[in-house]
Amino acid sequence: MQPTYGLTDAEKKAYAENEADLSTLEEQLRSFDKVANSRLAAIGRRFDPDAQYCYRCPCDQYEGASSRCARDTCGHSRTGHHGFI
Ligand SMILES: [Zn+2]
Ligand SMILES: [Zn+2]
Repeated sequence: MQPTYGLTDAEKKAYAENEADLSTLEEQLRSFDKVANSRLAAIGRRFDPDAQYCYRCPCDQYEGASSRCARDTCGHSRTGHHGFI
């Protein structure tokens, strides 16, 4: 976290609350990642931790463009793909 020196109490509080919410969100994303991976592994879909593949459709790989997959068959946001955390 950045130093909070010089911030007002209200500012400190807002940043602290954002930080706490984001930590919670990141934790949830990590556990989603685990569950989504084991689901795909169970059906024999790629399970390469280094690869970027889609959670939502059989798209091979994330093709980033404006944080969206550029594949025709895909097109959803980066969070549809493995490795977004
Ligand atoms: Zn997709
Ligand atoms: Zn895709």
